[in-house]
Amino acid sequence: MRIVVLTGGIGGARFLLGVRAYAQEVGAEVTAVVNVGDDLRLHGLRVCPDLDSVMYTLGGGADPERGWGRTGETWTVKEELAAYGAEPGWFGLGDKDLATHLVRTTMLDAGYPLHQVTEALATRWQPGVRLLPATNDRLETHVIVSARSELASPAAAGGFGGGQQAIHFQEWWVRHRAQLPTHRFVFVGAEAAKPAPGVAEAIAEADVVLIAPSNPVVSITPILAVAGVREAVTTGPAPVVGVSPIIGGAPVRGMADRCLAVVGVECSAAGVGQLYGARTAGGLLDGWLVAEEDAQTVVPQVTVRAAPLRMIDEAATVAMVRAAVEMA
Ligand code: GDP
Ligand code: CA
Repeated sequence: MRIVVLTGGIGGARFLLGVRAYAQEVGAEVTAVVNVGDDLRLHGLRVCPDLDSVMYTLGGGADPERGWGRTGETWTVKEELAAYGAEPGWFGLGDKDLATHLVRTTMLDAGYPLHQVTEALATRWQPGVRLLPATNDRLETHVIVSARSELASPAAAGGFGGGQQAIHFQEWWVRHRAQLPTHRFVFVGAEAAKPAPGVAEAIAEADVVLIAPSNPVVSITPILAVAGVREAVTTGPAPVVGVSPIIGGAPVRGMADRCLAVVGVECSAAGVGQLYGARTAGGLLDGWLVAEEDAQTVVPQVTVRAAPLRMIDEAATVAMVRAAVEMA
């Protein structure tokens, strides 16, 4: 059996731990198609937060408490950069993590495409699943917020009046904690981006495509903003089953509710299910797996099933994966 998973970073990485264990049980091959919309250049280095979260988590090198970055991390370089007053001070790169970005950037600058660089980095981490960036091309999530001059005047902060500016997703998320008056998301470069080699092929050859319980707006949507990826998923032979990242009206961890509010989608299993939509109606889903407390969820033309969806440990996550695959 071949399983393809569309995934973001931390939530998706936890889910993939369950997918990998399930795949080992049943003898399946797994390909993870990972969001690159969060990627950024910092201090001259290419940083891929979601690819690294997945790689470190599956490779046993992720910090389980912080949720991102490496175990046993130190911050000497960060402190030295701060001593120079080097911006951005709000994005912390650990010393161990920096080695990854140095290797990645060196390879990219030498002309290797991102999917090959990712494969090379993974030879160290042995994640046990094939990791592919959604695209090798530039695709960055930017956020349109009220311009600073408007923010200075609280009365105008909610107004549109032309006073808008775009900031990188990481600045909105990490620096401003998603608290700015926000108008919309833009996936810069998405129109021209092509699926990374292997992505469309993996989807076309899959027996099931799973949508991880990742942030629907800023992890899954940017993957699907690559037209060739969206087309492969919506027109492919494999059934597509999504797993809800929202349980009882709340994201289990993180601030997905803020992203959903920006795009005008209710923070609920039904809201996200409808955002993805039915494949038979031009959307994504054949099946939608929701938490037991959301068992009443209805998404037109989509089969909905309920199961425990809290990823408290690997066994619980494997059970989620099994439920999703069985729906297919
Ligand atoms: P990020 O890229 O690091 O933000 O991670 P993802 O986008 O892959 O995943 C973040 C999402 O995971 C959050 O928005 C939550 O809604 C979801 N999530 C986190 N923990 C759980 C869990 O235990 N169960 C479910 N169903 N969703 C979860
Ligand atoms: Ca992310």
